[in-house]
Amino acid sequence: MNLEHLKAAIRDIPDFPSKGIVFKDLTTLLKNGPDLHEIGVALADLYRELGVTKVVGIESRGFIGGSILAYELGCGFVPARKPGKLPSVTIKKTYAKEYGVDTIELHSDAINENDVVVLHDDLLATGGTMRACYDLVKTMNPKKIYINFVVELSALNGRENLPEDCEVTSLLKF
Ligand code: AMP
Repeated sequence: MNLEHLKAAIRDIPDFPSKGIVFKDLTTLLKNGPDLHEIGVALADLYRELGVTKVVGIESRGFIGGSILAYELGCGFVPARKPGKLPSVTIKKTYAKEYGVDTIELHSDAINENDVVVLHDDLLATGGTMRACYDLVKTMNPKKIYINFVVELSALNGRENLPEDCEVTSLLKF
């Protein structure tokens, strides 16, 4: 499926949230019903026959595509959250990102060794956020981990920070 036409619906915001960052604003894509539906179907088409049991969505923009993907696949959704938000026992990892430092948390009972997991975020920049999420999920020993984004900023080479043995897909590359 050719999704190139959807790129024009994404808005560039220069110097947000800090100087030098060109922020890819997906709200202009998400607010259009047919565009959102196309994204949802395209995400699910990548994983339909792979026995996926859980999608992990990264807070907060990863919750949108991650929920749609999980719903389309009929599998579970697991939130990877900012620190202090999850109510039960958690595991956590601190990492560097394109702007600043952050920590990500998962409930320690969210994933088990029978799971086939898709990790989803809206955008791949340096890969630090997804790498932290992957490292956390890996400690739970799932059968298989896939990595997925709506948007990839290719010039930042974020894939180099992601594990080589993991299939990484993105719908829209800039
Ligand atoms: P990174 O860890 O550098 O790959 O950054 C990815 C995370 O930061 C994702 O959750 C994105 O939502 C957000 N992010 C980083 N850079 C941008 C950008 N230029 N435009 C939009 N979101 C970004």
